[in-house]
Amino acid sequence: MATNEPTPTIDFIREIINRDNETGKYGGRVATRFPPEPNGYLHIGHTKSICLNYGIACQYHGTFNLRFDDTNPSKEEQEYVDSIKEDIRWLGADWEDRLYFASDYFEQLYDYAVQLIKKGKAYVCDLSPDEIREYRGTLTEPGRESPYRNRSIEENLDLFERMRQGEFPDGSRVLRAKIDMASGNLNMRDPAIYRIKHAEHHRTGGKWCIYPMYDFTHCLSDSIERITHSICTLEFEDHRPLYDWFLDELGVYHPRQIEFARLNLTYTVMSKRKLLQLVQEGHVSGWDDPRMPTVAGLRRRGYTPEAIRNFATRVGVAKRDSTVDIALLEHCLREDLNLRATRVMAVLRPLKVVIDNYPDGQIEQVEAVNNPEDPGMGTRMIPFSKTIYIEQDDFMEDPPKKFFRLAPGREVRLKHAYYITCADVVKDASGNVVEVHCTYDPASRGGGTPDGREVKGTLHWVSAAQAIPVEIRLYDHLFTKEDPGEDGGDFRTLLNPHSLEVLTGCLAEPSLAEARPGRPYQFLRQGYFCADSGDSRPDHLVFNRTVPLRDSWAKIQKAAK
Ligand code: ATP
Ligand code: MG
Repeated sequence: MATNEPTPTIDFIREIINRDNETGKYGGRVATRFPPEPNGYLHIGHTKSICLNYGIACQYHGTFNLRFDDTNPSKEEQEYVDSIKEDIRWLGADWEDRLYFASDYFEQLYDYAVQLIKKGKAYVCDLSPDEIREYRGTLTEPGRESPYRNRSIEENLDLFERMRQGEFPDGSRVLRAKIDMASGNLNMRDPAIYRIKHAEHHRTGGKWCIYPMYDFTHCLSDSIERITHSICTLEFEDHRPLYDWFLDELGVYHPRQIEFARLNLTYTVMSKRKLLQLVQEGHVSGWDDPRMPTVAGLRRRGYTPEAIRNFATRVGVAKRDSTVDIALLEHCLREDLNLRATRVMAVLRPLKVVIDNYPDGQIEQVEAVNNPEDPGMGTRMIPFSKTIYIEQDDFMEDPPKKFFRLAPGREVRLKHAYYITCADVVKDASGNVVEVHCTYDPASRGGGTPDGREVKGTLHWVSAAQAIPVEIRLYDHLFTKEDPGEDGGDFRTLLNPHSLEVLTGCLAEPSLAEARPGRPYQFLRQGYFCADSGDSRPDHLVFNRTVPLRDSWAKIQKAAK
């Protein structure tokens, strides 16, 4: 990843790797992987894992694999595989030629299962799923042994082979590891390792009707790929003894598993099941709805890979679960966009202004700096004329004392152009101001102070004849509560009804006709925006507000000092 990004501090994972390198545990080799299940789109939580695994591989000159853990044929689809690859590439992580699928290992995994049977360490069980659950016991009560637990090796081999041949219906039998029904760890109470599922798999088609369980597949896939540090989230800590058991019983290469806390963010949900529900029930327009915490949604909203990577680094890795304030993510985004966004002018809710003493029919070009943070981005010319539009909010007929924008008799600066003073207003039948009349001071061209007189307000504007109409979509948090996933109630009742506000009839300066998705803009005083990759067309431009300008994270930090 780019070198101008903050270097990760030495966290507990890197400490472990350093120690392993010192002792030569893996011969100094570092091999990581990102193992998504292709049953949904990637979200911001996954990016933490990707940045961590890929970042470590880069830092230690090791390798990074992308492996799809595709063991559940009924929930997995090619669409998800494609989107996951696209999102990881966009983020900037590179698996080079190491793209793997657990389904590529099905034959090998089957052999491993046969080996366990031959060792007397696995058996075919005919209990129904309900009975298995009942026999498992609880956290306080030990489980009971299955009546099928002591089948002979020969019988088990025969039944397992016939399971594979498709002789038995779904759910009628499973292959279970023979471990310990009294273990304090429920994962060790003879877990299922193969189940019957007559379903087409997105890659192996109809070849298999038995599928290995996730726990069996995951640790053995890491072993097959000779992963050195198998980094996963905390909920797998309790599965580690089971993974150790599989690897040791089979006597195969043993990666070191390290657990870290998953990322949670305020005002959103991160469970794929819930995200899928939002999509399927139409609460959002799709996986890439700009309000979604998915990588596709963030990209469409105007997030940059740099901002997300920087966020992942700043959040760091911890051993305890916590929830990160979404304001920190937005802060990282603003920091990045501030450096790269072209400053332009667009009026969201237009109010017509006529400059009475400006020559009729005259159009002049005023010069505007593209980005004060980066002189290399140059300048451009913007048309100015007698009739312009300003923001409705920037005018008040009867303003309070602290209002420094336009009002009768008041003078303001038009950014890049002139000073204007409000002379008069025109109202419609119901008394609303529909047009403001002003005079301008020709000596104030460029927005500088002609005679040192003070003008407090600076307004953005567009020239009426050259402005282009655009649709603008403003976003707010998807949920009204900080922790919509927490209280166990229906998270959908906490959806924010105002998470999307569509403004039509907005007007933008002509240069925005060139806007393409992926290119960031700052609309002066309104925030960062980008053309919408889904709906924006040359004859109907649509802009998403990526994030407003006001940085609540910076404010929180300041208050804390
Ligand atoms: P599922 O409930 O479907 O298993 P998942 O979010 O765990 O959902 P996976 O596809 O299994 O999805 O995740 C791939 C990898 O991303 C895993 O290694 C997982 O630990 C990691 N991951 C998932 N969610 C987060 C998160 N919120 N923060 C950090 N890592 C995550
Ligand atoms: Mg998972």
